[in-house]
Amino acid sequence: SRVTTARTDNAAVVGGVKNIIAVASGKGGVGKSTVTSNLAIALAETGARVGLIDADIFGPSMPTMFGVEDERPRMIQGDHGKNYIVPVEKYGVKMMSIGFLTPPDGAVIWRGPMASSALKQFISDVDWGELDYLLIDLPPGTSDIHLTMVQALPVTGAVIVTTPQKVALADAMKGLQMFRQPQINVPVLGVVENMAYFTPAELPENKYFIFGEGGGKALADKYEVPLLGQIPIVQSIRESGDAGTPVVLQNDSPASGVFRELAQAVA
Ligand code: ADP
Repeated sequence: SRVTTARTDNAAVVGGVKNIIAVASGKGGVGKSTVTSNLAIALAETGARVGLIDADIFGPSMPTMFGVEDERPRMIQGDHGKNYIVPVEKYGVKMMSIGFLTPPDGAVIWRGPMASSALKQFISDVDWGELDYLLIDLPPGTSDIHLTMVQALPVTGAVIVTTPQKVALADAMKGLQMFRQPQINVPVLGVVENMAYFTPAELPENKYFIFGEGGGKALADKYEVPLLGQIPIVQSIRESGDAGTPVVLQNDSPASGVFRELAQAVA
């Protein structure tokens, strides 16, 4: 798989975790968290052991998307007296969210060093056990905070989520370039084009390219990375995310098939 070609120079890949995959976007609101949550569950459904870190300090949405807003991770004591955080588990995915550390009114303002040290603890002090994939939902954009976070974590590959319109692609390009900077040097596994088109239920053969056609492919081609998937605009994707039951859990939904294919492309 592509993931196994990820860099080996960063030897710090944590104990039992095989692959750490960062999911990034240029802009907010392009569906990065939606893609990450559905991808995590789809990977878990294939039998892989999956963890998920919600590192979106500006808007952690995983607790909502997994329907665990009211849960808080427990602590346990390990063999040598060290305390470990037990990740919250739902739909076969072990999860830690920056949202679990923030009061409901969101009063904590995370600065770069604080966020990256919290994230380091999410790796070192969480009882992940053995994992095939640890997905990291990064905040949108390419600020210093991102550099610090990506450098703090031994990331093995990055997935870039974008929507097809020009203004989103321009920012996605910056996100992609960030991973290729020499001091970051994380292999980009590919591009996911979300909200690629809309299909009214009564006219399933008609695709409406509301945000333009071919943008994700053009970005992938420009940087010579695979286009990992094209996800349509589907009302149930939004509804299920809001309801804490990601669409991939609905076996009969065509939208769930799209995310299963994405999991195959990433694995
Ligand atoms: P980001 O993490 O990039 O900020 P989200 O995943 O939170 O974006 O998505 C933003 C909003 O768009 C959410 O309400 C989500 O349910 C919705 N959404 C994302 N992708 C789709 C899609 N393919 N079809 C319909 N709604 C979507």
